[in-house]
Amino acid sequence: MKAAAFDYLRAATIEEAAEASAGANTAVLAGGQSLVPLLNMRLARPSLLVDINHLTDLSYLRRDNGNLVIGAMTRHRAAETSALAGQDVPLLTAALGHVGHVSIRNRGTVGGSLAHADPAAELPAVAVALDASLRAQSAHGVRDIAARDFFVGPNRTALRPGELLVSVSFPVLQAGFSVQELAFRGQDLALVLVVAAVTVEDGHCTQARIAVGGAGPTPIRATSVEQALVGRALTDALITEAAAELSCDPPDSIHAPASYRREMATVLTRRAIRTAVHP
Ligand code: FAD
Repeated sequence: MKAAAFDYLRAATIEEAAEASAGANTAVLAGGQSLVPLLNMRLARPSLLVDINHLTDLSYLRRDNGNLVIGAMTRHRAAETSALAGQDVPLLTAALGHVGHVSIRNRGTVGGSLAHADPAAELPAVAVALDASLRAQSAHGVRDIAARDFFVGPNRTALRPGELLVSVSFPVLQAGFSVQELAFRGQDLALVLVVAAVTVEDGHCTQARIAVGGAGPTPIRATSVEQALVGRALTDALITEAAAELSCDPPDSIHAPASYRREMATVLTRRAIRTAVHP
């Protein structure tokens, strides 16, 4: 199937892209790895496509004031192979390795993945786990949105018409980390996934950041699990006890019933904490 007809604008500046995307029924084209299939299946029928692939000033990774800041048009693969990202936010690098195949990561962008807001995608879960901050730009200026407020439903974000996602800031965090996924095939979108970053000092957990994807309309921060871990001696029994605190309400899907996804979310949470602590 081919896409329905649309007008096309190759934006030369962020301002032009933001202004054009303020119109009714427009879509921003980044790497196209999610949008183009939707267009071809006619599940998306925008009347105007605003191509931001030539906004090279949105492609960068840099350290800024204790944060790793990534431009929205940075390709997944560029972020995955960045030494800076690997050093500053190793959980992010590990998660990027799970995003589709290398060919998809060569084109797909960090901003596109976040703006697409698939509840089972890796980057939204990492953003929620690490309290990332997402920067939107429009003709009215710039605003920063906390990851916990950015994802508002399946494929729905807090971005307003005319707002372009321009960057995301992850706090620098060198902690033990793990990404655990249940998927039919290695590089498929997960049925359920868990990302975890855990800091241990003298055998005690001093910080835990855990998020679950594919278990609700948005990525879920596992705060009850985190609270059960922090300040306590990290034994295997504690990890099992803490993972059992996970509360999530995944929907039934054609691939797996809700009960199975819920059970697997707990199993993967336990596994993610263990692997983060004992890599
Ligand atoms: P696009 O497809 O261009 O855009 C996606 C959406 O975001 C569109 O609605 C677009 O308008 C909007 N958008 C894009 N950029 C911006 C911006 N800067 N500001 C505002 N809105 C914007 N993803 C995973 O996370 N995990 C997987 O395992 C995975 N597996 C995949 C397997 C296959 C076979 C395929 C085809 C895709 C898979 N994906 C997976 C999706 C892929 O990672 C996409 O690259 C990503 O979801 C979207 O990034 P993109 O740059 O391609 O965005």
